[in-house]
Amino acid sequence: MRFSAEKLSIPDQRMKPFIDTEEIWNLINNTKPERQRVRDVIAKSLDKQRLTLVETAVLINAVGTDLSDEIKQGACELKQRVYGNRIVLFAPLYVGNKCINNCEYCGFRASNADAIRKTLSDNEIIQEVEALEDCGQKRLILVYGEHPDYSPEYIAHTVKLVYGVRKGHGEIRRVNINAAPLDIEGFRIVGESGIGTYQVFQETYHPEAYKWYHLGGKKKDYEWRLTALDRAQEAGIDDVGIGALFGLYDWRFEVLGLVRHTNHLEACYNVGPHTISFPRIKDAVSLNLDKKYETSDDDFKKLVAILRLAVPYTGLILTAREAPDVRREVMQYGVSQIDGGTKLELGSYSDSKNEEQNLNREQFKISDPRSLAEVIDELLANDYLPSFCTSCYRMGRTGEHFMEFSVPGFIKKFCTPNAILTLSEYICDYAKGETVEKGWKVIEKNLEKLEPAIAGSTREKIEKMKKGERDLHF
Ligand code: SAM
Ligand code: SF4
Repeated sequence: MRFSAEKLSIPDQRMKPFIDTEEIWNLINNTKPERQRVRDVIAKSLDKQRLTLVETAVLINAVGTDLSDEIKQGACELKQRVYGNRIVLFAPLYVGNKCINNCEYCGFRASNADAIRKTLSDNEIIQEVEALEDCGQKRLILVYGEHPDYSPEYIAHTVKLVYGVRKGHGEIRRVNINAAPLDIEGFRIVGESGIGTYQVFQETYHPEAYKWYHLGGKKKDYEWRLTALDRAQEAGIDDVGIGALFGLYDWRFEVLGLVRHTNHLEACYNVGPHTISFPRIKDAVSLNLDKKYETSDDDFKKLVAILRLAVPYTGLILTAREAPDVRREVMQYGVSQIDGGTKLELGSYSDSKNEEQNLNREQFKISDPRSLAEVIDELLANDYLPSFCTSCYRMGRTGEHFMEFSVPGFIKKFCTPNAILTLSEYICDYAKGETVEKGWKVIEKNLEKLEPAIAGSTREKIEKMKKGERDLHF
């Protein structure tokens, strides 16, 4: 894989800030999107090379011109070439909404007196996980407010608890985390519990704007947050996720901030983020935000396409914050993971009663409330290959995201067969009605594209699965 170095005013150093506001604004204000240049940049990306900050700025500045469509087409093409039609599915599980911070945009902020504060008990976590397993979920992301109750030891405890819950054929095979930044020792404790990815979103990469929204609590320290994933790396967590909350500041700045963060991690740790998230602000209880930086649907679609082209090998996560029609379109531009069957109210996977009370337990409103079954059915209808694969990480193929793309034939040897096997397992255990037929058809189509020997051993495993064996993978 080729990383592109460029001269930056702040050189990358471990655990040191790396955002230079002036530099980023200079790039936005002074990079010209000449037609040939834009096309060359798209071609470089289609050659599976990472884009520099300057090249990303070229694409950003082409937005609004007739070249926008070429950017989107380039992203579609790259997605097909790099990822094919696989889409990995997951669900978030909110563990607790106590919070010492006052993020202006969040329903969990300390000053929101209407929020009903709750931390799930161990028993409630078990019930939630059982309910998620009953739908066929295999990958979760646990979400926590920032509070002394949610210590590294507590987070590690909940991770182990979730891995231990088995119902029928159900089990959670990968637990990711979205929680506050920790110190190195804290990351080590959480890392040792066997997590997949640790996500921390910077919210906004612009230091001044960051201050507007984070007035109190620990989160007001921009640099502590900016260097969070450096500390995770120092603690041995090499699988990290970054993100920006779109709507807090100029979307163009945030896209360059995300790329700059990626460059930083690559420069210091030789491994970029596993995933990038790009949530847009959604309505939350008593939210009163200035709409100045609201990101339109149009800009949102373009920014996802630009991110895809800028970092061809980084997973892109699109959540149920977005409505089904936006998700449908944006997915083509290179999204690799989506959530399905998402519920944000604490305790609502196992208990959907008492909606009114639950409203005050939500962090924000989602726009895609469809069940996992509905999401999968639509993916199959659109020829995607839904996947619950967790194989590499459990087989000790570490740095799997890197291998996925750098080892010749890796996707055809491991990713596609494992996607097929996890989908087969889902069909055997959870699919109903027409989804069953649609699912087997998509599986057959994908098997036909594999090399005969690999297709043969995948078929053998499917037959074993039909006879009752589970968790078969390569
Ligand atoms: N408390 C931890 C933190 O702040 O990093 C982790 C959990 S927080 C619940 C997860 C993410 O939700 C935040 O990083 C933020 O980007 C996002 N978020 C907060 N309020 C939101 C809103 N109103 N709409 C959309 N996303 C929001
Ligand atoms: Fe707390 Fe996180 Fe919400 Fe901020 S975004 S108020 S830290 S839960």
